[in-house]
Amino acid sequence: MSDLVFKTALELARMLRDGEVTSVELTRAVLDRIAEVDPQVHAFLFVDEEGALATAREVDEARAAGEELHPLAGVPIALKDNVVTRGVPTTAASKMLEGWIPPYDATITQKIKAAKLPIVGKTNMDEFAMGSSTEHSAFGPTHNPWDLERIPGGSGGGSAAAVGAFMVPLAIGSDTGGSIRQPAAVTGTVGVKPTYGAVSRQGIIALASSLDQAGPVARTVADAAALQDLIAGFDYQDAVSLDEEWPSMEEAAKATASAGDKPLAGMKVGVVKQLTGDAYEDGVTASFEETLEYLKERGAEIVELDLPTLDIALDAYYVIMPAEASSNLAKYDGVRFGLREEPKEGAVTSNRLIAASRGAGFGSEVKRRIILGTRMLSKGFFDKYFVQSMRVRTLLKNEVEAAFEEVDVIVSPTSPTTAFKFGEKLDDPKLMYLSDVATTPANLVGMPAMSVPSGLSHGLPVGFQVMAPVRGDAVMYRVAAVVEAKEDVVNKNPNFGAGAAGVSGEEA
Ligand code: GLN
Repeated sequence: MSDLVFKTALELARMLRDGEVTSVELTRAVLDRIAEVDPQVHAFLFVDEEGALATAREVDEARAAGEELHPLAGVPIALKDNVVTRGVPTTAASKMLEGWIPPYDATITQKIKAAKLPIVGKTNMDEFAMGSSTEHSAFGPTHNPWDLERIPGGSGGGSAAAVGAFMVPLAIGSDTGGSIRQPAAVTGTVGVKPTYGAVSRQGIIALASSLDQAGPVARTVADAAALQDLIAGFDYQDAVSLDEEWPSMEEAAKATASAGDKPLAGMKVGVVKQLTGDAYEDGVTASFEETLEYLKERGAEIVELDLPTLDIALDAYYVIMPAEASSNLAKYDGVRFGLREEPKEGAVTSNRLIAASRGAGFGSEVKRRIILGTRMLSKGFFDKYFVQSMRVRTLLKNEVEAAFEEVDVIVSPTSPTTAFKFGEKLDDPKLMYLSDVATTPANLVGMPAMSVPSGLSHGLPVGFQVMAPVRGDAVMYRVAAVVEAKEDVVNKNPNFGAGAAGVSGEEA
């Protein structure tokens, strides 16, 4: 088996540039790995062998002709299946969109194609990105590469598992309340939600528009940073897109490596009282505290923060998010968009047709949230719940902004638990929603946040979350790169790591 799959995206990019490997060889290695491993993991809903190899050939030809290429050209990537891809199925893991072949590309897809990264396929997710375990996919769950009996997180469990099982070095996710970060935490990978508006959402199937943000999934902080540099930037087709000159995140991620043994000297790291405590598993807390010690050794000053509104942020999220989702998903009615199902009995009236189509097309979690969200927006409930939740959101924003007057970054565990077993939380939605307690605040505020592996608990990865002020993505990457240096987690995977495949750590 090729050990290429164990290398980082930036190392592969270098090898491609130096002519040590061709993109066709690399893409073949990735496709072979997917064929070998994915029957167990089920990270992919669609593998585009032909399309990926066509791009790889283009890259190799362009390089041979001496053309100037993007630094990541030729490095394979996977996209979450809510990122629209022209000519390639895009389902958001829903029966509602099964068989849909989009006639256009998302802006992210266009950027990736323009930079010539072979897109090897579309990854599994909770239906319409609602969930924390990938168990809500209409096409069956993804398995955690660390323990196949456990969930890979959600909603972007497919992208995280694909990267964590060394099937692909890079992937795209979407994060409305943690769907990039929580899967990263439980699979030992790096997942980033950039500042709201930093990456275009044009062509990413909308969930809750005031919270949605696309971002990178990778095995190292520098790889994620390089991918963010590629996908970020203004897009007139996304109304909230920031017209901003971003500094290089890759340089920020690499800066700490060359900054001596106190790379965080002068840096203040905030620890929030509300994002620690009994709600977090012992092993998660232990890894978190160890990491704080490590950051101190590396020069950081730890500052305790009290942000009381965080106690009710998750509640506000689970009002605002379903409310917006119910509106965004109204278009899937079997008339304008989505699966059309004729009513089983009686005359075909438009109401019956819509009810039958939505009844057949949506899974139970999606229905739950549409009902909840519609209720929150209806007369009598709107002021009581939706408007109140928006007030909570404003309070939280103010509190967080005030905290950033004092500290450079805020840190917390990414997820209160490590990967749980299939079925453990499936029948108790409120228990499932608690998985998002530490991740949803960043979406409510719009600030960038990422998860970096900080160690293992009972053999399962633990994620450490770094949050930074809006537009402060670079400082987030700088701190995350230090966290990453504490322990190399992803390569320790007993099932799918380089060791398990008989490739020694050094060679890989
Ligand atoms: N788990 C969260 C939810 O179910 C996050 C979803 C997301 O970020 N797409 O709402």
